[in-house]
Amino acid sequence: MNVEDNIRQVRETMVEAARRSGRPAAAIRLMAVTKTVDDDRILAAIRTGVEIIGENYVQEAKRKIEKLGKTGEWHLIGRLQTNKAKYAVHLFDMIHSVDRLELAVELDRRARAAGRVLPVLIEVNVSGEESKSGVPLGAALDLIRVVAPLESLSVRGLMTMPPWSDDPEESRPYFRALRDLRDKIAGAAVPRVEMRELSMGMTDDYAVAIEEGATIVRIGRGIFGERKG
Ligand SMILES: *Cc1c(COP(=O)(O)O)cnc(C)c1O
Repeated sequence: MNVEDNIRQVRETMVEAARRSGRPAAAIRLMAVTKTVDDDRILAAIRTGVEIIGENYVQEAKRKIEKLGKTGEWHLIGRLQTNKAKYAVHLFDMIHSVDRLELAVELDRRARAAGRVLPVLIEVNVSGEESKSGVPLGAALDLIRVVAPLESLSVRGLMTMPPWSDDPEESRPYFRALRDLRDKIAGAAVPRVEMRELSMGMTDDYAVAIEEGATIVRIGRGIFGERKG
């Protein structure tokens, strides 16, 4: 199937999942994840009207944005090295992968120099797997308390990636834990912190993520097909 048909199908699934859980479909934004995807198919996704383009790598995003132009929102979802923060603040509308104070401090410094306030999500390692990036669940609120005063960042919510599984129901407890953490942090009413966004759910489990409160779903293969290499 082509990109347009895939997006239509994903949208239908999103609407059904929202309806099942009594949520307005407009509360959930679709991100097309474009790592390794060629330019023509990215343009097709933008034309079909995905809300967000999601990139894993700063260099790859830079090349694509220079070539395709900056239509719509581009978000960084991959691990960010501190020394790439200076490029990231110019390229992205939101960064989903802030998981340590050192990175937040550098992003804040670079955003201030660029004269902007950068929206960020805190990435949480809910499962505790060693291979995963993200702040441990139990340390997330403490991290948010020290990131919150950085005036050129704006904390907007949380992001997570559950352990890989071919059964979407296996992801549900991790999504639910992220939502519970969001509610707990919202309850702590940290000044300047908004807990609006829950970035969770990928090709195999986005319907479950929506049922558990996702506001951004990140879909790669479900839109563009299997990645080569
Ligand atoms: C690649 C990637 C996705 C999309 O994964 P699919 O299974 O292709 O939908 C989502 N989020 C992150 C952080 C990714 O790296």
